[in-house]
Amino acid sequence: MTSPETERLAELVRASERIIVFTGAGVSTESGLPDFRSPGGVWTRYDPSELTFDRYVADPEVRRRSWQMRREFFETLPQPNPAHRAIAALESSGRGIGVITQNIDGLHQAAGSRTVVEVHGTAREVMCIGRRPLGGVPDGCGYRADHTWAFDRLDAGDPDPSCPSCSGLIKSATVSFGQALFPDDVAHAERLAAQADLMITIGSSLQVFPAAGLPMETITAGGRLAIVNAEPTPLDELAEVMVIGQAGEVLPRALGG
Ligand code: NAD
Ligand code: ZN
Repeated sequence: MTSPETERLAELVRASERIIVFTGAGVSTESGLPDFRSPGGVWTRYDPSELTFDRYVADPEVRRRSWQMRREFFETLPQPNPAHRAIAALESSGRGIGVITQNIDGLHQAAGSRTVVEVHGTAREVMCIGRRPLGGVPDGCGYRADHTWAFDRLDAGDPDPSCPSCSGLIKSATVSFGQALFPDDVAHAERLAAQADLMITIGSSLQVFPAAGLPMETITAGGRLAIVNAEPTPLDELAEVMVIGQAGEVLPRALGG
């Protein structure tokens, strides 16, 4: 059964021409990747807030645990769910201008989305961060590789893979706690948010920057906001419509056409 809120979202989608989708961890929970709050799973066994950027740089043991966490992440072989697919179809239809995501799982691209801005980076790649990056800012030589490169090094008996070009530290190409956001990605996300006539946020608690700030970029530029989430968010009052529900059920109905 389709709720009146989902119907209202479908109407908004039909009335819009430049839709930006902004996703958080909640769009991937139905792919078996728990968000921060859910019990169990990788994030509760390895509290990522303990694995800060500075500790990663300072301590080989923290790096070892981080690689272990990444391995477990990929061993679950996460696959896109109906929400990711509905979002990709929106872009193919010409109405969607892209996806901004806080997720690091690469599932939007796996579902066929082409314009994807990953404001917290990606776990699917690793990057050189240099030897002694300061102030949470990577200072590497630009070397990047698929995440499997690091796993291959670990399997070959190297517990702490380093950069083949400059021997700097190698880290997952994600934004860790205490690490600066990648400025180009933030600027790209802000541009897309300001161009949109409708932003749909999906599966984000909208509590931390830049999650809380991006919807304001759309609204300030004259666009509208819609929210799909399993629970209320602090921005609900600014939204034209707020759908409480599961992304994988709501999105195929609301974006369907
Ligand atoms: P969050 O955990 O703060 O909020 C997720 C929200 O999604 C919650 O409000 C929850 O109620 C809702 N939710 C959960 N399942 C849902 C579903 N099926 N349908 C609709 N809503 C659902 O997540 P956040 O705001 O994205 O911030 C947490 C940070 O954790 C992000 O920055 C992200 O980088 C990181 N993270 C990423 C992944 C991933 O890549 N898959 C997973 C966990 C955490
Ligand atoms: Zn390097």
